[in-house]
Amino acid sequence: MADLRFDGRVVVVTGAGAGLGKAYALLFASRGAKVVVNDLGGGRHGDGSSSKAADAVVDEIKRNGGTAVADYNSVVDGEKIIKTALDNFGRVDILINNAGILRDKSFAKITDQDWDLVHSVHLKGSFKTTQAAFPVFKKQNYGRIIMTASNSGLYGNFGQANYSSAKLGLVGLANTVAIEGRKNNIFCNVIVPTAASRLTEDILPPDLYAELKPELIAPVVAYLCHESCQENGSIIESAAGWAGRCTIVRANGSLLRRRPEDDVSIENVRDNWSIIRDISNAQRLESIQDATGALMSSLDGLRSGT
Ligand code: NAD
Repeated sequence: MADLRFDGRVVVVTGAGAGLGKAYALLFASRGAKVVVNDLGGGRHGDGSSSKAADAVVDEIKRNGGTAVADYNSVVDGEKIIKTALDNFGRVDILINNAGILRDKSFAKITDQDWDLVHSVHLKGSFKTTQAAFPVFKKQNYGRIIMTASNSGLYGNFGQANYSSAKLGLVGLANTVAIEGRKNNIFCNVIVPTAASRLTEDILPPDLYAELKPELIAPVVAYLCHESCQENGSIIESAAGWAGRCTIVRANGSLLRRRPEDDVSIENVRDNWSIIRDISNAQRLESIQDATGALMSSLDGLRSGT
């Protein structure tokens, strides 16, 4: 089978001056895409700015024979990043929302600034950049969007309440963008990476750190963004050359009353607790309509006494 290529496509990668974003930018460029290498070039806690990080990646892409332009805007000014793509290449096809910072503190010590900065870069930045690209995608009836979440968001992690809430917020954002984009061939998926970078150098054990090359995740992100990939609205976890889909499941649950005229007591809840929380027969519901449908069939069961 032929190689998967991105000739003629314009890709915006935010936070592409280092780590995962750099690996994505280099891979897309090596497969023929024109790349906007966005990076504010600040510190890991959201301080400062510099053009060096983005420039170095653009230089590397050009040295390898590829096409790229640097953009130094913060993702909170997402419309400026998309303008860079349109001004330089006349189009944009793929958006990788990847820029990120950390301001880790135990929950009780988080300041408003720690909360606002982390939410602003991850959640608002992805919103602003995606919202700027969306009308372009709609007009051309084509677009691929990646949101970057984290296991910290899916499962929680000590000292990361600000970060984990923003990261799970991105899953909610992706869920709805995937629904609203579908009819215009705009697909939106979430990547949950674990990789060696400056964000994880003091968190991951050194032997594991050496195994977790960002380059091992980049092909997963690139495939999700290829025109031949029909995946939409999924969460894909990837690390160390492994990838798998994550999802939310719902327990079969328990009816807490026998007849429609019955009330529910606290004791009914207690007595059914092991069934309520039993996920051995859990199902994935594909949509909010499925969730409402499942509720309706429980109520039908109640009414018919089955
Ligand atoms: P990294 O620090 O190496 O790269 C992030 C880049 O984003 C930096 O170059 C930084 O300058 C840039 N950036 C920060 N704020 C910006 C802003 N406002 N506008 C534009 N650019 C900005 O980190 P990484 O590990 O490669 O992380 C990339 C993404 O993956 C982040 O969203 C991070 O939260 C997420 N993530 C990483 C891991 C991991 O294991 N490395 C795990 C889960 C999620």
